[in-house]
Amino acid sequence: MRLCVCIAGLLPVLLAVGATSSILEMTPPIRGLALANLRDTFEEVHDGHKHEAIDIVEPKGTPVRAVVSGTIRKLFLSKPGGNTIYEFDEMEVYCYYYAHLDGYVKGLREGMRVARGDVIGFVGSTGNADARTPHLHFAIFELGPERLWWKGKAVDPYPGLVAAVKRAK
Ligand SMILES: [Zn+2]
Repeated sequence: MRLCVCIAGLLPVLLAVGATSSILEMTPPIRGLALANLRDTFEEVHDGHKHEAIDIVEPKGTPVRAVVSGTIRKLFLSKPGGNTIYEFDEMEVYCYYYAHLDGYVKGLREGMRVARGDVIGFVGSTGNADARTPHLHFAIFELGPERLWWKGKAVDPYPGLVAAVKRAK
C-alpha cells in the first residue's frame, strides 16, 4: 500500500520531466525573430481576460512556422482568434496555438504531420486583432490526459521563445 502511494506521488514529477521536452526543442515561429520583438505579456489582461499568450508583431503575410514537430490537430475559425491552428507535439503533452492568421499554408489539414520549421500559415489580423497591427498570437497549453484541443492549462511561452531565439542565432 505504502509503495503504491509512493509511485502515485512520483508520477506527476516524471510527467513534468518528460513534459518539458518539446518546449525545450522549440524553434522560433517567425524566421529571424529578434529578442527585441518579444515581450512577456502572458499576465496582462486583454479585453477582460488574462492574455496567457505572447503577441509577435510582424507584417501581414509573414510565414508562420511550426515551433515543434507534431500533428495539426485542429484548424478553427474563432471569433476572437480568427484563423487558428492547434498543433500537438509528438508526445501529445503540449498543444501549440497560433492565432489571428491571415490564412493557412496551402494543403494544411487536420491530422497532418508537420516538421519543426515547416510553414503552416501567415501572420494576419483575423479575429479581434487590430487590422493596423497584424501579429501572431502564440500560446502553449499543457494537455490533460484526455488530450482535447480546446482544453489545456496555459503555460507562459516567453522563456521557451527566448531560448529558441538564442539557439537560432
Ligand atoms: Zn494576443
